[in-house]
Amino acid sequence: MANYRSIESAVIHGGVYGDKTTGAVNVPIYQTSTYEQSGLGQNTGWEYSRTGNPTRAALEALIAELEGGAAGFAFASGMAAITAVLQLFQSGDRVVISSNVYGGTYRVLDKVFQRFGLSYSIADTTDLAVFEAALTPDVKAVLVESPANPLLTVTDLASVAEIAKRHGALTIVDNTFMTPYLQKPLTLGADIVLHSGTKYLGGHSDVVAGLVAVKDGKLAERLAFIQNATGGVLGPQDSFLIIRGIKTLAVRMDRHVETAETVARFLKDHPAVDRVYYPGLPDAQGYDINHRQAKNGGVMISFVLDDRHDYRKFVASLKLIALAESLGGVESLVCHPATMTHASIPKEIREKVGITDNLIRLSTGIEHIDDLLADLEQAIEASAV
Ligand code: PLP
Repeated sequence: MANYRSIESAVIHGGVYGDKTTGAVNVPIYQTSTYEQSGLGQNTGWEYSRTGNPTRAALEALIAELEGGAAGFAFASGMAAITAVLQLFQSGDRVVISSNVYGGTYRVLDKVFQRFGLSYSIADTTDLAVFEAALTPDVKAVLVESPANPLLTVTDLASVAEIAKRHGALTIVDNTFMTPYLQKPLTLGADIVLHSGTKYLGGHSDVVAGLVAVKDGKLAERLAFIQNATGGVLGPQDSFLIIRGIKTLAVRMDRHVETAETVARFLKDHPAVDRVYYPGLPDAQGYDINHRQAKNGGVMISFVLDDRHDYRKFVASLKLIALAESLGGVESLVCHPATMTHASIPKEIREKVGITDNLIRLSTGIEHIDDLLADLEQAIEASAV
C-alpha cells in the first residue's frame, strides 16, 4: 500500500522507487543485455533485456500506476508504442482514427498496416453521431487524441469509450498532449492509453520514447507478447531519463499550463491573430467537455495570423522560440504542421480537417512569460506584409 495519495507524490515515489540493494534513491541503470543463470531453467526472474530489464520495468510500473492501468510498457519511440498497439489487431480489422491525429499515426496506418490488411477510417470523433456511424462491424478499435494534434479539438472520451464498447471495439487514447497529470483516459473508460514519452513525460527534449498503459490483465498479456516478439523496447539509459523526467512532471506541467493560458489570452486579444485554438479558452470547441475530463486546457496552442501577416516571416523572425518538430520540452517551440508534423497527410485531407497552410502550432515552454510574449510580439510585428 503506497504511503501517498496524490499524483504529485506518485510521480516521485511511484512504480519502483530507488534500489533495495544499495539504498540508492534512484533506480539504477541496468545496462545489461542478459543475466547469468545459476542453472538450466534457474534464473533471477530476468533472462534477457528485450523481454525484461529492471530499469525499463521500473518505468513500466510507474506509467501503469500514474495512468491507473494493470500494466505498462515502454518502447523505443511513441511510434513504436503505437505500432505495437496496432499489432493487437489483424488483417480484416479496421481502426477508426479521429480526424486530427499526429501525422505519423495516420502514416503508419496508411503506408504500413494497410499493406497487411488492417484498414482505417477517419471520423470526426468530436461529433458522437458521426463517430458512431463510422463503427462498421469490422471496426475493432478507435484511436483518438484529445486535445488532438494540431487543432486541439476535444473529444468526449467517456462517451467515445462507451459507444466503442457497445460496438465491440477497444478505445485507445493517445494522451501525449495531456499526460496522466492532466487527464487519465483509463479512468474515463478507455482500454489503452499511450504516449510519445519524448514529449512532456521526458520533458527536456533529450530522449525519444513511447509508453503504453492498459486497463486489464488480458490486454497486458497480449501486449507483453507483442513487445517481446517484435522487440521495439526502450533501452535502460532512456528508461532512466524518462523516470527522471516524470519526477518533475507535476511542477513542470503547472508552470507550462500557467504560461500557456497567458500566451493563449495574449494571442486571442492580439489584433493580428485571426484564430486561436486552445481548449482552456472559454469559447474553444469542447471547452466544457475538456473541463470535465481534464484538469485544464493543457499546454499546446495553435493559431492563425490574419492575412496582413505572413506565417513564414513570423517563424523566421522568432528569436527565443525555436522552429522545431516536437513539443513538451522546457523550451518553447513552434512548428508548421502543414510542412512538418502533418506533412505525411495529403493536402486535401489536411485542408478538409482544418490543417491549413497558415496554421502555426506553439509548444509553450517554461521560460519567463515576459520573454515569451516579447518574442511573439516582435515576430508578429516583423511578419507584416
Ligand atoms: N503521438 C503524438 C500526439 C505525437 O505528437 C507524436 C510525435 O510528435 C507521436 C505520437 C509519436 O511519438 P515519437 O515521435 O516519440 O515517435
